[in-house]
Amino acid sequence: MTEENKPMVSAVDMAKKYGDFIALHPLNVQVHAGEFFGVFGPNGAGKSTFIKLLTGQLRPSKGRIEVLGVDAVNDPQKVKANIGIVPESESPPSFLTPAEFLEFVARLRGVEDMKNKVEHWLEWFGLQDKRDTMCKDLSKGQRQKVMLASAFIHKPKLLFLDEPFANLDPIYQRKCREWLLDHVAEGGTIFLCSHVLEMAERMCNRMAIINDGKVLAAGTVKGLKQSENETLEDVFIRLVGRSIEDVERLSDEGVVDDSEE
Ligand code: ADP
Repeated sequence: MTEENKPMVSAVDMAKKYGDFIALHPLNVQVHAGEFFGVFGPNGAGKSTFIKLLTGQLRPSKGRIEVLGVDAVNDPQKVKANIGIVPESESPPSFLTPAEFLEFVARLRGVEDMKNKVEHWLEWFGLQDKRDTMCKDLSKGQRQKVMLASAFIHKPKLLFLDEPFANLDPIYQRKCREWLLDHVAEGGTIFLCSHVLEMAERMCNRMAIINDGKVLAAGTVKGLKQSENETLEDVFIRLVGRSIEDVERLSDEGVVDDSEE
């Protein structure tokens, strides 16, 4: 394989156990330059574990992982230095202001024209009036914007996003979506985890659906549908196995009781 078509992300036989609990069964995944790859699954499916393994935040119980050609198991620091990560529900340090945090990240990442870039991203996210407010005093959504800005500021060629839009309003969801799609169009690569299927329809070239730590299906969004009429939600319910009939049955049996009596 030439350097050119070497995958940006490659995991072979990767698995993770927490004690005796199997969070991720052995799986293989490859993501190439210019792809927008998404992993979707219900809560507890193993999505965050998946992303943490690929980004060197967790050691796999077995398997090989290469990210940007670097061995993520033996050299996780080097992987972390070369990628962008927006972890799920993580906040910038409470004792720094958005401007201070972005400056810190920009310096760490060797961003040129640092001061202007920081101001640009504060303005882009509508945070100019919060630039000097301690992050502990920001709203959840504002803290998430700071985290996203800290990833966007150095335009990493490989970006990992874990539920990136959970606290964003629709205006900023759209703005970020457009930025991410432009980034991919320019050759960037994105690996995303979410339970929001709309993100797959709108952004992903390829996706995997996982549940209970197992990959149930993987392919293009179109390829996963059995017919033109099937929605991605239908696919998800079909694969994850919790059909609407099951919910109705449970409701009839009184297990799910939302009656007003
Ligand atoms: P998701 O991101 O899809 O919601 P996670 O990857 O966070 O799922 O978790 C997958 C499973 O692993 C869940 O059942 C969760 O409770 C379990 N798990 C996650 N982290 C740990 C941990 N540090 N120790 C033990 N179990 C964990």
